[in-house]
Order: sequence, then structure tokens, then C-alpha cells
Amino acid sequence: MLHSNLTINKEGHLMIAGVDSVELAQKYGTPLYILDEDRIRANARTYLTAMRTYFGEGSRPLYASKALSFRGIYRIAAEEGMCVDIVSSGELYTALSAGFPAKDMFFHGNNKTDSDIRYAIDSGIGFFIVDNAEELEAIDAYASERGMVQNILLRVTPGIDPHTFAAVNTGKVDCQFGISIETGQAREFVGKILKKKHVSLRGFHCHIGSQIFDQVPFCDAADIMIRFIAEMKQQYKLVTEILNLGGGFGVRYVESDPQIDIAENIRLVASHIDARCAESGVRHPTILMEPGRSIVADAGVTLYGVGSVKTIEGYRSYVSIDGGMSDNPRYALYKSPYTVMLANRAHEKADFLCTIAGRCCESGALIQENVTLPRPKRGDILAVLVTGAYNYSMASNYNRICRPPIVMISHGEDRLVVRRETFEDLTACDL
Ligand SMILES: *Cc1c(COP(=O)(O)O)cnc(C)c1O
Repeated sequence: MLHSNLTINKEGHLMIAGVDSVELAQKYGTPLYILDEDRIRANARTYLTAMRTYFGEGSRPLYASKALSFRGIYRIAAEEGMCVDIVSSGELYTALSAGFPAKDMFFHGNNKTDSDIRYAIDSGIGFFIVDNAEELEAIDAYASERGMVQNILLRVTPGIDPHTFAAVNTGKVDCQFGISIETGQAREFVGKILKKKHVSLRGFHCHIGSQIFDQVPFCDAADIMIRFIAEMKQQYKLVTEILNLGGGFGVRYVESDPQIDIAENIRLVASHIDARCAESGVRHPTILMEPGRSIVADAGVTLYGVGSVKTIEGYRSYVSIDGGMSDNPRYALYKSPYTVMLANRAHEKADFLCTIAGRCCESGALIQENVTLPRPKRGDILAVLVTGAYNYSMASNYNRICRPPIVMISHGEDRLVVRRETFEDLTACDL
């Protein structure tokens, strides 16, 4: 199977972290998000251990909580010793309400509003990752009003293309995030920051994109960042304490995606950084990374009920399910590949070519095209694998569909961690 937490039992049922998915579908109903807590913790520990070992003490992952945000995930992050990235007051509120310490949070985003800034500073946020000049002014002004000095990192764009999807590629010069090194704007902006009395520039951040399967793009980014750090030292006598290399490694969604050894890749990035720092005479900074999907994606499976199977002669067959774009918009947004299977007939031959359609009223609201299953029928359970990241967090109420619940499995026991939305929830804001 695609990941080691997925197996098939004697009755031909898909087992997730040792629990029968068919029983889960019966117990909690469909559509249903399943999360393997043990896998999330194991993924976190891979980063925590490798980063501490190879980058040195103090280096650690910040879980990019946009990938999956609800109270339980912040509790796990806190227990494992990860810091978190947040990108909105809503994520900040969720993390705080789970008891996650504000000092271990990093506030990202290209348009933090005045109210975001006030709420975060009032809560004692650890760092803002500053994106632009307007925001710098607003943070400095409010910190001044509060009579304190706020820690910040500056987000810069190293101007490299990691050969990943254009739609999720944010390291290039032409993007809405951060300030460009290449155009000289980042250098100039650092001078401006250093004149501010109520912010303390502790280091730099870059994010070159997602679904990166080897160390090369991270090494390329590190080269540019260390050169920039050396320049800042020369020009402003700035000692850079922190270098944040952005999002984590890629995730295996389908068989054709590579299986990667994250710890080994981190080791290679670390030895590259050691060499570059020594060459350029800059003090080795504390290295941060911001894995999102590689912490949670392979812990997730979504279960759906099959409703109809429609064959259009000479064209194709559509299998319609009881969820769709409202709980997983990623195929509709960027044709993301996923592995699908019939959870209740996982041992049968998959020779029926079909397209999986959600129930939303949009022709583009598909989950996957040209996949093979055993010929499905109404009442079968369809599993979409590796849905732990950017599914629940991107879900909507389009067509007034209730968002599915999340069931967490830990040590072979299942429990509800997010309940199913109700019709009352749907109308709760309607006056
Ligand atoms: C999206 C994002 C991440 C997380 O990326 P993954 O591919 O989920 O690991 C990290 N940092 C920033 C700035 C991001 O925008």
C-alpha cells in the first residue's frame, strides 16, 4: 500500500492504523475524515529529531497549521515540542483556545490587518514574519503604544523556482509574498527595519514552494539566503540569529510519487549550510523549517458513500459520492492527484475505469479522473487516501453541505475530535 499505516484485512476491508474503515464509516457515517494520530506524532518526531541532530540545538520545525487546523492538532504540536505557523486571527484563536503558548507561534501572511496585529501582540505572539512595509509600520506603532519590542523575521523571496507546481510556487520574484532579494528591495528594507525602535529583526524567512522531494531546492535557497545574510552583516553589522527555510518536504499521494527519507535530506541540507556559513564567515544561524503537509497528509483518509454509477457510452463513467469539492477542493483547484479505492472491497480487482464526482453543483467539482476501482455500486465506501492536509482546512459549506467530522485513531482506539456540522451550524450566522 501507499503508506505503512494502511493495510487490507481478511474480509477485504481497508484498515487505517489498525482500525477497520468500514466499521468507522458505519459508526460515524459518511463523509468522514479519519486521522492517524500516531502517524502525525511520528512525522513530527522525524523533523524534531533530525533538525536538532543536524542543524543543532534550538533548530526545530514550525508546524504550518494552515494544512490542518483544529484544537486537537495544536495540542499535539505542543506535546511534541513544535512551534506553529499561523496565518490569521482565526488560527491564532483556535491555537490559543487549545492552550497552545502564543510565544511559540509565528504569524505569517501578506496582509495582516491592524486587528490581527493588535490581537497577536496582546496575546504575546512570539514572532511576526514581516511581509511588507505597511505591516512593519503597523507592528512598530502598536508595539510602541504597548511600550515593548516585538520580535520579527523578514520574509524575502530568493527568486528560485523549485520546479514544482506554478500554483503553489511562492519563491519566485513575481509573487505577492515577501520582499525580493534580486531587485535590491530586501537590502534596502532591512535598513528601514533597523531604524525602528519597537521591532527586533532576529532573522530571515523564505519559502520556495511545496511538494519538494529532495534537498537540492533547499540547498539552492540556503545559498542565496546565506549570501544575503553575509551582505547584511557587511552593510549593517547585522547578526542573523534565525534562518527559516519555509515549507517542508513533499508527500506521497500516488504510487508514482517518490518515497523520501526526510531525516537524510535534512542531514544533507545541514552539511551544505555548515560549509556555506564557514566559507562566508557568517555565524551559523538557528534553522527553522515549516512543514505542513508532511506532518499531517499521510495520516488522513476520507471515507465517502457511493451514490450513483453513470456510464455515458463512448465517453466515460462517473461515480458520484456523498461529499466532494466541499470537503476536498484540491482537484478542482489544481488537479491534485489522489489514490482512491473501495474501502469495503479492497481485495477485488480494480478494472473499472471511472471519474469520481462530488455532489456539488459544478461540472469541475471532481475528486479524481481516470482511476480504476472494482465496479462500484450504491452503498459501497470509497476511500480517498492521504487527505490529512489541505482538506478539512480548505473545506466549505458550498451548496450548504455540512462539513464532515474528524475521527482520530490512536493506539488502535478511535474517537471523535471534530463533530459533524449540523443544519443549525449552517444557519447559526443568518439573522
Ligand atoms: C504553505 C506554506 C508552508 C507549508 O507548506 P507544506 O507544503 O504544507 O509543507 C510553510 N510555509 C509557508 C510560508 C507556506 O506558505
